[in-house]
Amino acid sequence: MDCIFCKIIKKEIPADIVYEDDQILAFKDRAPSAPVHILFVPKKHIQSLVHADKGDESMLGHLLLSIAETAKKLGIDERGFRVVTNNGKDGGQIVHHLHFHLLGGKKLGW
Ligand code: 5GP
Ligand code: ZN
Repeated sequence: MDCIFCKIIKKEIPADIVYEDDQILAFKDRAPSAPVHILFVPKKHIQSLVHADKGDESMLGHLLLSIAETAKKLGIDERGFRVVTNNGKDGGQIVHHLHFHLLGGKKLGW
């Protein structure tokens, strides 16, 4: 499968990894939109949020809590941050492997 995020997960292409465990990987976005711009991805290939199912429930909960934990570690939890997942064409999804953007470190416009 020709999926850029699966290649990052398999360490076939490099990325600036921020967090990793058996279920998820977090790495810096290569074209950051904010001082903090980290992508959180499941290690399992899931195309987008609507392709996730009941079996992914605990992994998704774990992923969201890991985002909050990372925001705390980076010290952006008090000022605030944004979590975004783009779904499909109208949502602006470019990479078709489910990912959550953690954005912060500045006052974000919409
Ligand atoms: P989407 O629009 O699909 O939600 O966003 C995909 C994001 O992945 C973009 O912000 C883009 O900069 C980032 N991205 C795409 N390819 C790579 C890559 O090879 N490495 C890294 N670190 N980020 C990537
Ligand atoms: Zn993938």
